[in-house]
Formats: sequence, C-alpha cells, structure tokens
Amino acid sequence: MEQKLRQEAKALLEQNKVDWIIGFEPGSLKFAATPLITKDKNDTERLIINPFIFNNLADFLTSLEGRVGIVAKGCDSRSIISLIQDNKLAREDLVIIAVPCPGLIDLAKIEQLVGKDRDELDDITREGDKVIVKIEGKKKEFSTIQTLFDHCLACELPTPQEYDILLGEVRPPALELEVSGRNINKLKETSPAERWKFWESELSRCIRCYACRNVCPACFCQRCFVEETEPQWVMPMPRWQDNLIFQIVRNIHVAGRCTDCGECERACPVNIPLRSLTREMYNMVDELFQFKSGMDKEALPLMAHYEQEEAEDLFR
Ligand code: SF4
Ligand code: SF4
Ligand code: SF4
Repeated sequence: MEQKLRQEAKALLEQNKVDWIIGFEPGSLKFAATPLITKDKNDTERLIINPFIFNNLADFLTSLEGRVGIVAKGCDSRSIISLIQDNKLAREDLVIIAVPCPGLIDLAKIEQLVGKDRDELDDITREGDKVIVKIEGKKKEFSTIQTLFDHCLACELPTPQEYDILLGEVRPPALELEVSGRNINKLKETSPAERWKFWESELSRCIRCYACRNVCPACFCQRCFVEETEPQWVMPMPRWQDNLIFQIVRNIHVAGRCTDCGECERACPVNIPLRSLTREMYNMVDELFQFKSGMDKEALPLMAHYEQEEAEDLFR
C-alpha cells in the first residue's frame, strides 16, 4: 500500500494534477507518524501508512492554496465532505487518496496493558485481529478490541466513500459500540450532581492550550470566540468554569460537523476525556436529526439550512 501511495503521490505532483500532497511521514518519536505537507515530488518517498497515522489531515486543507492530493482514512474523508458542504473546500481542488483503515492503535491503552512506557517497548505490530507488542525480546499478544482507540471501535466508515484513488481493499465498518461507548455510558449512569463534579474536576486540569480546537477540522472559524475581547466571552486564564464554557460552546459549534475522529481527545496533553462530550453530541445529532456528518455528500449542512416545518417559529 505504501509503495502504491508513493507512486500515485509522485505522479500527481509530476503531472501537475496537484500543487500539494498531504500525507504522513515517520515521526521523531517512537510509534509516531507526523503529517507531511509538500510540493516536492522527492518527499513522496517518505510517505507511510501504519497503525499510528493519528492526525485527521482534513484539518490542514482550509489553510492551503491550490489543488491538494490528500491521504484520507474514512474519518478524514467524512471531515472533507463536511468541509465541502460548508463551502470551505471545492471538490475539484482535491484528489482524495483513500486508505482503507483497520483502526489506529491507542498507545495509552498499550502502556496500561503492559505496564510500561511506550519508550520501553521494542515494537508494536498488527497481525489481523491481533496486536503484538515486543518488550525485552518477548512477545505479548492482545486483541484489537483491547488496543484500538475507542473511536475506531465505533468506526462507521473505515474506507472513504468519496475518493479518486483507492489504496487496497474496502474494509467493513468496525462496530464494537458497547466497548467504544463504555466510558460515556458509565458517566451517563451517574447523577447530574456527580457529573457536574466530574467535569469540574476534569476541566480544572485544562491548561487552555487549544490543542483540541487546533487539531479539529470542524473548528474552522478564523477567529475563535475565546479570542474575542469585545465582548469577552471567556476569560483567557484557565479557570474551570471558563474551560467548561469553552468546551460547551465548541461542542455546539461542531454539532453536525464532528465525525468522531477522536483527534481532540488524543491531542489533549492532560488527557481530559473530551470524547465523552463530542460523541454524546454526535449521538444526539443523529437521534434528533438523523444526520451523520460527512456520510452523505448530497446532504445539506445540518446547521446551515431549515425546513418549512421546523418546530421553532424563528425559522418559519
Ligand atoms: S475512525 Fe475509522 S477511519 Fe478513522 S482512524 Fe479510526 S478506524 Fe480509521
Ligand atoms: S487540549 Fe485539553 S488542555 Fe488543551 S485546551 Fe483542550 S481540553 Fe484544555
Ligand atoms: S470535535 Fe474532536 S472528534 Fe469531532 S471532528 Fe473535531 S477533533 Fe474530531
């Protein structure tokens, strides 16, 4: 798959079909891939595909000028469709190189399972439904249910529906919804007062680095409300109450655009369980409006159109 990707990406640049290629190259840390954004055909030799290609690359599209060839997992492709629906991108400016995605390995889960830091591990490989971890010359075997990111265990579209080049065979959805949603469900079983305490405690750890916003393709405002000073919606210092407002408003802004790509939670340096908010909003949007972001390219953007029979007078 990697060889085909490199050939296709190189050909796209050579034939001037695109100005940019966005993909992944090896990162400087162990078990890490880093986004590669290039105009140079020689760089395409560094392109990789592995179980650690975490970023949702759609996030970079709105800041590039020109035609772009983009490596897209299923969730990335849903974000791309959503951005097209919001008129943030034009389909004709994109060449989507589709990666049928078997799910990404959550290094935090591996660390917990083996009781070691990722730097102490020799290797992590995927063999079918197994993930093999090598430590001090010995192999330990785990199932994918134990080791993939929670959002990958609820993946509805591992292979992009919309693409120009397909690398490999189409993969079926992975729907381990019970395992994927266990943290959210546990939280829902608590009382409102307990939940309030939970979020007070979690959001007290937020350092307002905005990594969760910056990695999110659905967060595309040129000026975020948190940076407005007139009016000042939230204080810049990370008080938990302001952190809560930041997350509530961010969730409302991405409602109908969030694809449950899991990037905000992964990027949070203090491990705040942000998916408990974003996935719950994703489920609510589905329940209320029968809408799943980026699944249907003919659909109108959820928050940018209204129907004659809307319940609210405001819209009629
Ligand atoms: S959500 Fe789906 S497409 Fe996205 S990384 Fe996980 S398995 Fe791959
Ligand atoms: S990534 Fe985490 S710490 Fe940073 S602003 Fe978001 S919630 Fe706060
Ligand atoms: S809110 Fe989080 S899960 Fe949803 S699209 Fe943005 S980064 Fe992905």
